[in-house]
Amino acid sequence: MAQYLPKTEMFDIPDGIIYLDGNSLGPLPKGAGARATEVIAQEWGQQLIKAWNTAGWMALPAKVGDQIAGLIGAPAGSVATGDTLSIKVYQALAAALKMRPERRVILSDDGNFPSDLYMAEGLIGTIDKGYALRTPAPEDVLGAITDEVAVVMLTQVDYRTGRMHDMNAITKAAHAAGAVMIWDLAHSAGAVPVDLTASNAEFAVGCSYKYLNGGPGAPAFIYARPDITLDLEPALSGWLGHDAPFAMERHYRPAMSTERLRVGTPSIVQLAILEEALKIWEGVDMAELRAASIELSELFIAEVEARCPALTLASPRDAPVRGSQVSFGFEHGYAAMQAIIDRGVIGDFRQPNIMRFGFTPLYLEKAQIVRAAEIIEEVIGQELWHDPKYQVVSRVT
Ligand SMILES: *Cc1c(COP(=O)(O)O)cnc(C)c1O
Repeated sequence: MAQYLPKTEMFDIPDGIIYLDGNSLGPLPKGAGARATEVIAQEWGQQLIKAWNTAGWMALPAKVGDQIAGLIGAPAGSVATGDTLSIKVYQALAAALKMRPERRVILSDDGNFPSDLYMAEGLIGTIDKGYALRTPAPEDVLGAITDEVAVVMLTQVDYRTGRMHDMNAITKAAHAAGAVMIWDLAHSAGAVPVDLTASNAEFAVGCSYKYLNGGPGAPAFIYARPDITLDLEPALSGWLGHDAPFAMERHYRPAMSTERLRVGTPSIVQLAILEEALKIWEGVDMAELRAASIELSELFIAEVEARCPALTLASPRDAPVRGSQVSFGFEHGYAAMQAIIDRGVIGDFRQPNIMRFGFTPLYLEKAQIVRAAEIIEEVIGQELWHDPKYQVVSRVT
């Protein structure tokens, strides 16, 4: 495994826990608590409203955007941060549709994360001009890119199975058909190498609480290709996306930069935590991280398949088309996952029968993967999931 990994000492992970859910909520970076306390006590507490200037709060969204840009192959100044991913999907989609006013089809896939599709449906209803959302199976997307399509909006790595779309090939096909391309990088940023500039996609969006470890509710991000930024018409034309917010002009005038994709007051405590969390990535080479992630995932698949014939691999077997997660289908997946979590291995469950495990070489080592497989074998082999306490379905799965 690569020299720089893991960076376990930079995280606060409870003793005895093997954390295979960093794809859903990254663990606590060690510096996060101190940074949050500093923002609250020193900046907010002592500097009060002056802190917007004196503590650099107003510049923080762009500063954090630049940190994220470095991880997704985007130039400085091309990434805005704030709000949540669902909002950023809406913004990208609304701006993209305005770039193709004569077309009426949004193309996604039926494996996409529900919120992305819900936001598209909500936007279509609001515009009320006969737009349609098409969602073929992921493998049929390429064939569905016709010259009716205004926007192709896809999540690169499938949240259930980890199946990965070919970003460059699909973007190229979208452009050849005259469509605008939006990539959702929720399960890509910090998980696999992404080169947005090379892809030539117009937009990308993502969240920062998964592989980027920004904490629950951490701000989302949106990338716009630099050559289109100044022509974008923001649908959510909030004052902090205005060219001169404090001029308090009667009419909206978008900022002459990616800042036009900001909306309202940034969540400073969360942004400061994210800024701290992103320091962990300094010196991390994404290609090396990817190699380590594949090594851990392959080991996990081999160990679990050898030990648990009742589980069926739901992820692609072929590493190059799989993100940094591995899923298994199992009829009693929910209860089995509760039993596994009870024994210190944390993964999660997704409908209808998916047991999902995320791999983050920043804090995982091979010995933990083998140990996790032993615990899964114990639960599945001895049918420990029968215990009634594992049948109670929680609000969040
Ligand atoms: C995690 C995730 C979301 C969640 O959106 P929020 O607004 O941050 O709650 C949306 N889309 C995808 C593809 C995701 O993986």
